[in-house]
Amino acid sequence: MAYPASTPARPDNARPHAPAQTRPQKLQSADAPTVVFISSAGHSGSTLLDMMIGNLSYAESLGELMVMPGEIALGSPCTCGASLLECPLWSRVLARWSQRHGRPPGDIRLGWMAHSQHASRAFRLARAASHGWRWLQLRAGVPALGLAEPVYRRGLEQTLELYDDVAECSGKRVLVNSSKPYLVAVDHARLLGARCRVINLVRDGRAVYASFLRHGFAPRAALHAWQHHYDRALPLFERYVGPGQLLTVRYEDLVTRPQETMSRVCGFLGEPFEPSALEFSAPHHNVNGNDIRFRPRHELRLDERWRRELSASQLEFFMQHAGRTMLRMGYGADVTPPAAPRAA
Ligand SMILES: [Zn+2]
Repeated sequence: MAYPASTPARPDNARPHAPAQTRPQKLQSADAPTVVFISSAGHSGSTLLDMMIGNLSYAESLGELMVMPGEIALGSPCTCGASLLECPLWSRVLARWSQRHGRPPGDIRLGWMAHSQHASRAFRLARAASHGWRWLQLRAGVPALGLAEPVYRRGLEQTLELYDDVAECSGKRVLVNSSKPYLVAVDHARLLGARCRVINLVRDGRAVYASFLRHGFAPRAALHAWQHHYDRALPLFERYVGPGQLLTVRYEDLVTRPQETMSRVCGFLGEPFEPSALEFSAPHHNVNGNDIRFRPRHELRLDERWRRELSASQLEFFMQHAGRTMLRMGYGADVTPPAAPRAA
């Protein structure tokens, strides 16, 4: 697989959304699956959207595929209830991977996620450095240095390899990966070209901020988790993801106007809408994600707890720092834009 790690930023006269030169053979064939990559900040409804697409008869919800190695190590259950090594879908997919590589399924690497290393500060710093380099490469054409970056590249290679196996084992032609990182979304679009669709899932930042606070994040980390994602993702999407490859979906529309929103998603995929998108009767095999995946019933309800949970000072803090991003994303009509910084 040719990987565009050292590809300089697009020169002005280049085709704006040229795909990578070569891609895995199967993923270029006419019957190759369409891969939907959901990019969003955390706590934005990605598991819900992933499963709603996975409700369609022709689609398979894969969940947060990047963390699957950690989930295998933990013995975490698939949404179907079985462990990943015993799940009717993943056991077959992982067996194929094992056979091809001559290694146990636990050796699979799908990016910077491996449970045994999560607690390590050194691991987190190396992951941040790797992602920072990839961002610089895409944003400013900084040449790849290749220190931490091969881990990211290997993760992408093995992820793309898995798609073929999932398509063959499931018989589905649309696969949904809701791993979320915008860098991985951009590289999916570049590597898979027309076979990839990126969904930029957005949610009112105040709701996301409140949710991160509820989960024990410090205020600045909670702010960063939302603002950083979109401030960095949107310019990269504009530059690297073709218009036909990118759809923005608002969480608020998904839960308040689900049929209309899912019809739009299906149209974006070039596939028919099915009422099953709004039902959750089919078994799912998505990996990790929000605990709603284990609920037998799914009530589509707008979660606006932030309105009663955030104090005036917390709201002021959030809007002071993220107000411009909110307005750029179409949120916060009730928000006064922060004053422009004074010239020095
Ligand atoms: Zn399963």
